Amino acid sequence: MEKLRIGVIGAAGRMGQEVLRTLANDSRFELALAVDSHHVGESVHQFTNGQGPNIEIGAKTGAGLDNAPCDAIVDFTTPTSAAQHAISAIKRKVAPVIGTTGMSDVDQREIAALCRETGTPALYAPNFAVGAVLMMKFSQMAAKYFPDAEIIELHHEKKEDSPSGTAMLTAELISAARTKDPIRRRGGIVKVEGARGGTHKDVPIHSIRLPGFVAHQRVIFGSPGETLTLQHDSMDRTSFMEGVKLCLLEVRTLTGFVIGMDKILFRT
Ligand code: NAP
Repeated sequence: MEKLRIGVIGAAGRMGQEVLRTLANDSRFELALAVDSHHVGESVHQFTNGQGPNIEIGAKTGAGLDNAPCDAIVDFTTPTSAAQHAISAIKRKVAPVIGTTGMSDVDQREIAALCRETGTPALYAPNFAVGAVLMMKFSQMAAKYFPDAEIIELHHEKKEDSPSGTAMLTAELISAARTKDPIRRRGGIVKVEGARGGTHKDVPIHSIRLPGFVAHQRVIFGSPGETLTLQHDSMDRTSFMEGVKLCLLEVRTLTGFVIGMDKILFRT
């Protein structure tokens, strides 16, 4: 089987480094391109203990893809730059797997339009952990019977966007699956602004940012006399790697701009 040629964008970051190590240890993939705004001109071998191809980190995605054609890229950068990297890839008919969370709706619409125009697929997966995708699926099932839910998501202190992409998507899935309206408790005495969290699709979300956490989420459903709590914990970044590999292997079989790894995990 021919190896899939992969570009890693954000290669020197926390997730990027983990992806480099993962690809270097899997014979189905070949690292063809590494891009980051840090460590430009340096070898990726410093992150892979000398394993895999000895590639120099470049500064630009588009120019990088022109020199080193890829089958797919995976992006772990920032919400503002991820869309530009995806667009550079799609214009070159390279399928992007976007792991960066917090992209704007406008950017997502632009990517979707370009996918349609070029016939190139793209996948945005706010969470690559299989357990987290199952938590979202179970939340969808529970929302049919429990319209009242709140989300607590906990991440490391360096995470840029709040709420997390996983919490946003979970709220959207809960909202779409509800068969009854949730209780909307207006007013009340709120002594500290934000104490009740923010609300997306009528689901309150509470974002906690503290050192020590990686990526965690609790979805609490309440109904008279009972509660149901779904909890997922990513203890370290290896939890995302099976999902990253699955998405890289499958992204080119998708059509258009697809949101969520569930579309791959649960496809029939
Ligand atoms: P990080 O450690 O800050 O890494 C991001 C890397 O990308 C940094 O080295 C950064 O360099 C670089 N970068 C930023 N803008 C760039 C650009 N325009 N071109 C090239 N490189 C650029 O962050 P992280 O913890 O790896 O997380 C990255 C993203 O992945 C976040 O949005 C996070 O929420 C998301 N994430 C998603 C999942 C998932 O399962 N989907 C899991 C974990 C994290 P500078 O420091 O110079 O900016």
